Formats: sequence, structure tokens, C-alpha cells
Amino acid sequence: MAYRSIFDAPVLQSEFDNAGINHHFIPLIWKHVLQNPNCKWDEITSLPSAAYPLLNSKFLPLTTTLHSVSHSTDAVTSKLLIKLQNGEFVETVVMRYDTRLGKYAGKPRPGGPRSTLCVSSQVGCKMGCKFCATGSMGFKSNLSTGEIVEQLVHASHISNIRNVVFMGMGEPLNNYSALVEAVRIMLRSPFQLSPKRITVSTVGIVHAISKLQHDLPHVNLAVSLHAPVQDIRCQIMPAARAFPLGKLMDALHLYQKNSQQKIFIEYIMLDGVNDDELQAHQLGKLLETLEVVVNLIPFNPVGSTTQFRTTNAAKVKCFQRVLREKYDIRTTVRKEMGQDINGACGQLVVSKQDKMLAENTGLVMDIEDLHL
Ligand code: SF4
Repeated sequence: MAYRSIFDAPVLQSEFDNAGINHHFIPLIWKHVLQNPNCKWDEITSLPSAAYPLLNSKFLPLTTTLHSVSHSTDAVTSKLLIKLQNGEFVETVVMRYDTRLGKYAGKPRPGGPRSTLCVSSQVGCKMGCKFCATGSMGFKSNLSTGEIVEQLVHASHISNIRNVVFMGMGEPLNNYSALVEAVRIMLRSPFQLSPKRITVSTVGIVHAISKLQHDLPHVNLAVSLHAPVQDIRCQIMPAARAFPLGKLMDALHLYQKNSQQKIFIEYIMLDGVNDDELQAHQLGKLLETLEVVVNLIPFNPVGSTTQFRTTNAAKVKCFQRVLREKYDIRTTVRKEMGQDINGACGQLVVSKQDKMLAENTGLVMDIEDLHL
């Protein structure tokens, strides 16, 4: 029988209930594992005696192993290749930044060095977005709650993680209960992330959006919109057929009415597909009654996504100007392709080549090659 991760909270809680062990020992165990990922259960001396046989027979501190880490040439991003208990791999990406170096209202912003972790929720993805490398893998499996949280544990030994974005491999809302449980753990001790620093990105699984707001209040929502009209959405995101744009917009309006939170809109710029001025106006009209931040993402061809071309910088600027000046929509442009991991949902791919490289040489492809 496969061991469960100690971060599979629902299973752990139910086992503790059956054994009559108080749940208040759980954060203490998690804290020890976070600090000592290779620990043995006997090292935690303050647990009730019934906990040790239970933990030894059913749980591991970590069920995943950090296989390799690769760093981008500018040292801003690090990609962690993580091996699951079933032999599959997922990737998680750390991006470091320093707010003191950025400018806000003409001045450096308060804060300091901090890191964002881009987390995977599935091995592969069944949504099949045509511009996305992960989509080309197809769907292999859902990650468990523990496998999601363990990405944060591994990354915490590389950097001090302040923000988590669910924009790695997979559609998070297609693995809903594991996602919700994983976020709840991240909000608790010992991680204690602020919900405002966690963002869940979705292609727009309409029925799950309001549920998400109910289950994870104050967590940010990002929507990979990528087109202002339904037919283009369907062309580049086949899964959008099941989620008509009108219904998605209704869900976003309801979400905003209930949450009073702004919504992040991801829009990948594909030359000649969704990037002309008319489409900027269509997008502006679609979004002008919502409070949103639009992130325009210049496309970077990866693997089987080379049927698309990159929109040139002038066209991106023009698109941005329309949204800002005509519709007063806050709009950012991702500048460094492949380095800003905040930009889009799940655009990582673990190819056979990655795994062979990792297994044979301890190296993986540069992160820039794996991101849009
Ligand atoms: S963009 Fe997101 S939802 Fe679409 S295939 Fe890639 S990982 Fe899946």
C-alpha cells in the first residue's frame, strides 16, 4: 500500500479521529516536517504514544522527492522537478523579486526580497489549450492535497515563499477538493500564507467559480480568457465549448459582487488570432463593467504550440493603449517571456526529454524553454 503524505489533511484527520488523537498535534507535526523534511516520526518527542505506530504504518513526511533544480540565467527563477510516488514528474517554479528595485508611483515600493511559487495541480491537463505546452501532454493524473503542499515544502528550502499562484501544470478547478484542502493548509500554521497572496488560475470552469469564492474567501481569482469572443476562445481553447463566454461573464460578475475582489485576466497575445485593435475594443467592452487587471502575455512558442506566432511589441502596446485609454482598464504587459511565471496558467511541460536529461545528467532544460 502506498503511504500517504502527512499533508493529506483529510486522511490524517480521519486517522487521528479513529485513534483518538487530538488534531492540535497536526500543525506541530507539519512544522517539524517543514524544518526537517527527511525526519523520522520518532524524532518528534511530544506526540501521544498512539500517534507513532499510526504515522509509521500509514504516513511519510514527504511522498515526493526533489529530483533536480535548474536556475534561469538571470537567477530570478528556479524550476524544481519533483518526482511523485507513482513515478510521474511535476514542475514547480520559484520566482524571486525585490520590491525595493521596482517603481511604484515614482518610488521604490515597500517590502523587500520575496518569492512567488507557481504550483502544479495535475500531471498534464485535459483542457488541451492549443498554445500551451502542458495541454500537449494530455491528462495523466490529479495531484493529491499532500502532493500539492509538498511543492511548497520543497520550495521553502530554496527561497522564502510569500506568494503562491496555481498556474503550473493542470487546471486547478478540475482537481477541486485537493486544491481547496491544499490552500487551507497553506493558510494554516506553519505556512500561514495570507489568502491575498494566493491566486488560483482557471480557464473558466463556470460552476466552480462561485463555489471557490465560498470555499476559499479572499483568495485571488485569475481567469485565462485569451479571447474576447466565444468562437476564437473555442478555436484556441477547446474546453471553452463547455463554458460559453456569456455564462463565464455572468459567473465573474456574481463572483465580484459577492467577493468585492478584483479579478485578474490573463490574455495571451497570438499574432493574427486575438491581437488586433477590434479585438482590443471587444475585450474592453466585455470587461469594462468589472474591476479587473488584464495581463497581456506575449506568446513564446514551445514544443507542439508552434502553429502560433508572437505578436510584435508595437501591436501589444496598441492593444494595451486601447484597454487603458478607451476603457480605463488596468493593463500590464509581461515583458520577459519565459521568466515571469505569474503570467499564465499551467504552461509547463515535463517532456520525455526533460526526464531523460534529469535522470541521465542531473540537468533539465532551461526554464526559459519551458514557459510561454
Ligand atoms: S493553459 Fe492551463 S488549462 Fe489550458 S491546457 Fe495549459 S494547463 Fe491546461
